[in-house]
Amino acid sequence: MCPKCGSQRVKVTPAGNYVCTSCGYSWPMPTAELGWAHRIFLVEKLYEEFKDAKPLDCAKLKEEIIRKGATAQEASRIARRIARRNMKLTNNKKEKDALREALESC
Ligand SMILES: [Zn+2]
Repeated sequence: MCPKCGSQRVKVTPAGNYVCTSCGYSWPMPTAELGWAHRIFLVEKLYEEFKDAKPLDCAKLKEEIIRKGATAQEASRIARRIARRNMKLTNNKKEKDALREALESC
């Protein structure tokens, strides 16, 4: 909640500040929440970076994501999200089956 105008419409910036979308007031996040926000941004960034990976080799993909700073749990989540995304995008049955298999083993 915005400390200035009381609005609930608050955004988080990549720099780790809260910004009120009603009055524009900006204030820093508490350190405890900062760590959490950084994880979210890292996960989004890695998802964007790897989402076009093909063919999807889950074990290899997770390894690469972990090397970029994600935890094993985050890496699985990202890899599964990428597999689901690519399954939706492809019309190739063989590719779909391979992705479904990757998704199950991820
Ligand atoms: Zn405000």
